[in-house]
Amino acid sequence: MKKRIAIIGGGIAGLTLANFIKKNSDFEFMIYEKEESLSLEGFGIQLATNSVSILNKIGFENINSEELYHPRNLDFYSIGNKKICDLDLTKFNLNKIRYTTLRRSTLIDFLKDNIYTQHLRFGKRIKRISEIKDKILINFEDNTNDLVDNLVAADGIFSHTRSFVETKKTTPKFKNVIAIRKILKSSHGLKIDAKNINLLMGSNTHIVIYPINKKNELNLVCILREKKFDIDNINLIIEKKILSQNKNLKDLFQGNLKSWPLYSTGKILPSNNKKVFYLGDAFHGFSPTMAQGASQSIEGAFQLFNLFKENNKNAHNIYFKKRLERTKLIKKRSDLNFFVFHISIPLIKKIRNAILKRLIKREDFINSYLGKVYKN
Ligand SMILES: Cc1cc2nc3c(=O)[nH]c(=O)nc-3n(C[C@H](O)[C@H](O)[C@H](O)COP(=O)(O)OP(=O)(O)OC[C@H]3O[C@@H](n4cnc5c(N)ncnc54)[C@H](O)[C@@H]3O)c2cc1C
Repeated sequence: MKKRIAIIGGGIAGLTLANFIKKNSDFEFMIYEKEESLSLEGFGIQLATNSVSILNKIGFENINSEELYHPRNLDFYSIGNKKICDLDLTKFNLNKIRYTTLRRSTLIDFLKDNIYTQHLRFGKRIKRISEIKDKILINFEDNTNDLVDNLVAADGIFSHTRSFVETKKTTPKFKNVIAIRKILKSSHGLKIDAKNINLLMGSNTHIVIYPINKKNELNLVCILREKKFDIDNINLIIEKKILSQNKNLKDLFQGNLKSWPLYSTGKILPSNNKKVFYLGDAFHGFSPTMAQGASQSIEGAFQLFNLFKENNKNAHNIYFKKRLERTKLIKKRSDLNFFVFHISIPLIKKIRNAILKRLIKREDFINSYLGKVYKN
């Protein structure tokens, strides 16, 4: 009998796993997505070499190059637009494995290509999960069901699947942080290099601007501390928290903005059921200050696929042990970055900038701090 796998959630994590299963195994599988379509939002995403090396195995390198960008540097600035230093990102590149930026929709379009018609069911919400001998029975609200060998929950940070499997609850916490995003058509007079990733650090806020394709489109993401997420007052918050630090940034925030509250997983916990796996944000949700959420989803999907393919009897332990190690490392670095990017005391900022300038030149530090993440 062929192994049968159910994947709950059609985001980057679920779709990546599905692609590996489809291209490299004869397992039967289905993605169950609760929405009526896939989210094709067009904001940017950064993929470091740890995930690009994996995606290339399923043909990512063949995406139309006009739809991708390979920034060379990460340039650090103060929010006043004074350059502090830069980091050469190409040192982690190897042939076609290159630090890549693109629209999320480009990535989802690529990932859904082989999956869409046969292996994706929309509007599916779980009603019940039970065990029958050595299988998992999933009952959906529309009175359909699926009997599978493994269940992979890739349903995002608020994973509903978890609540059917675990007795212990882990509720994601609002981090008193919000994200604001926009696609820019130009750098609006800022003194930045639009071919690089530009990071502007202010008090309790940072802004990242980077190219997402070869059509001169730039992604802007602004992360700022704010106790309450008040979508109706975003312009006021921008005025108070960002423009008060540099009024020349006004043009960046004109027009169509999208904003979100940011949550992160409290304790990262494996599943209690040997046949159930959590993947992507359903397992770990951390702050985006290392730009590794999607990359970790992709890493996790590849690792899980390999364990399924080997038919590894110890898959559950191996998967969660490795994932816990990796995500704890990324979480620590993301939290540290968040702290460093948001320093607000002027003297400490000066010290930070001086340390940053020195550290960035030290190969041993860069290889340890980023190399450990980017070379998986
Ligand atoms: C501002 C910001 C910037 C970021 N930038 C980057 C970046 O540059 N690089 C990077 O690597 N990461 C980045 N991330 C993180 C990255 O977006 C996420 O880690 C990644 O998208 C997680 O993918 P996922 O598939 O696990 O979850 P999701 O993308 O949340 O997908 C979950 C899917 O499951 C579906 N679903 C939910 N509930 C159910 C249910 N009950 N039943 C069935 N389906 C369900 C959803 O509709 C969705 O399709 C960023 C995050 C933020 C907030």
